[in-house]
Amino acid sequence: AIIATEGTFTYEQLLEASASVASCLLADAGDLEESRVAFLMGPGFQYVATQWGIWRAGGIAVPLAVSHPPRELEYVIGDAAATVILAHPDVVSTLRPVADTRKIRLLTTGDALTAHATELPEVAESRPAMMVYTSGTTGKPKGVVTTHTNIRAQVTTLVSAWEWSANDHILLALPLHHTHGIINVLTCALWAGAVCEMLPRFDTETVWSRIIDGNLTLFMAVPTIYRKLIAAWERASPERRRTMSDACARLRLMVSGSAALPVQTLERWREVSGQTLLERYGTTESGMALSNPLHGERVPGSVGTPLPGVEVRLVDDDGKVVEMGTPGEIQVKGPGVFRDYWRRPEATEQAFRDGWFATGDIAVVEGGIYRILGRKSVDIIKTGGYKVSALEIEEVLRAHPDIRECAVVGVDDPEWGERVCVAVELQGSSDLTIDSLRYWAKDRLAPYKVPRTLRSVRTLPRNALGKVRKPEVAALFRGSGRG
Ligand code: AMP
Repeated sequence: AIIATEGTFTYEQLLEASASVASCLLADAGDLEESRVAFLMGPGFQYVATQWGIWRAGGIAVPLAVSHPPRELEYVIGDAAATVILAHPDVVSTLRPVADTRKIRLLTTGDALTAHATELPEVAESRPAMMVYTSGTTGKPKGVVTTHTNIRAQVTTLVSAWEWSANDHILLALPLHHTHGIINVLTCALWAGAVCEMLPRFDTETVWSRIIDGNLTLFMAVPTIYRKLIAAWERASPERRRTMSDACARLRLMVSGSAALPVQTLERWREVSGQTLLERYGTTESGMALSNPLHGERVPGSVGTPLPGVEVRLVDDDGKVVEMGTPGEIQVKGPGVFRDYWRRPEATEQAFRDGWFATGDIAVVEGGIYRILGRKSVDIIKTGGYKVSALEIEEVLRAHPDIRECAVVGVDDPEWGERVCVAVELQGSSDLTIDSLRYWAKDRLAPYKVPRTLRSVRTLPRNALGKVRKPEVAALFRGSGRG
């Protein structure tokens, strides 16, 4: 089932270890009754045994991100009202203060994986299984609650569309607090009875050497990762390049998603690898919705057609379905669509229109094929495949003593897709550099939310109502480098 730094593990071992975790979590209870169990560990066998253990005990799995600073972890733990935290021994000390303050039971995987297995509850498929935190246009990140039925639907549509089988062997180089890694890679692999080989983190050279070793059949990543792989190929000697290219050609499928794949990247990767990347589109809330075909023509710059079992429509601002060729907002319906935002009934209500999930993304259908045009909100930024909220970052940065006001924007970037940039009005005569701001922000924000470029302005551009004009702020950064 799993190859990781800890070793190689069979499905039987996964069942045994997850039964131990479930029994440890249950203690004397018969069922966790949908308690939220937050867990912090890098990708590996312990992660999967924990996730399955939570599910088998009737809990809701809340994956925490190993890259996040304690403040972000604490926010998720608090918002989810987690009743138990499970952590790898290497990172348990990070969470002890939060657990102590909030009086939450803190367990290590060392204890949980070796617990004596007891009887486990029957868990109905309609019950909630997981909460992944995602950023939106308002406020702080929200927990996206998916049931076991939702997860089954999200997984089975991909397993059938991309013809996963037990013969597959995928390399996971994505983090496991985001749907791309959790659903599209890990859970699809395990559903199919395939091998999921997990890297503790993405590393260009390791990915290339695993591709070269020759037994992978599948690879899935965000455009930023493909750009890094291309850059490494370009740095390699002619002989090494040939080895790299020949190895890629042996995989049966390479997929890109979570952010727009520029046509140049698709074409360059085709030259490098002989593979035409299959681009797909989806969201944490809906699972995957649109995909280019496994067999048949993959149109560069497009995201294909609706996946089996997923309904997709495009609507105008009045909620009317648009004609072919007219841009509209993507709305998604189907058994994979999430249940709700955790304890946010208003946000949940706003996210749905007559049972359709409104994604906030704009697309057009041309010749029956969907092409993504952009997003409704300038305040959603996609950087390195991560969805981040400009408003959330601004709120944190406003607490900096030198910053009077600020505006965060996403600016096109060849490596990251979009780069997080901030324009600031400074207090008095203070002087703030990007390096000192980044240093200050890294304890408060996940690394991908920390701005990469800063511009100091006397006053931010505003409209007559005093609202910051984000397009004009973004124009300040066009063509500018880092810093
Ligand atoms: P997340 O929930 O973090 O997976 O982010 C979902 C968002 O990623 C979508 O609403 C889109 O804005 C963006 N996205 C995902 N796939 C694509 C794609 N193939 N092309 C353009 N944007 C995408």
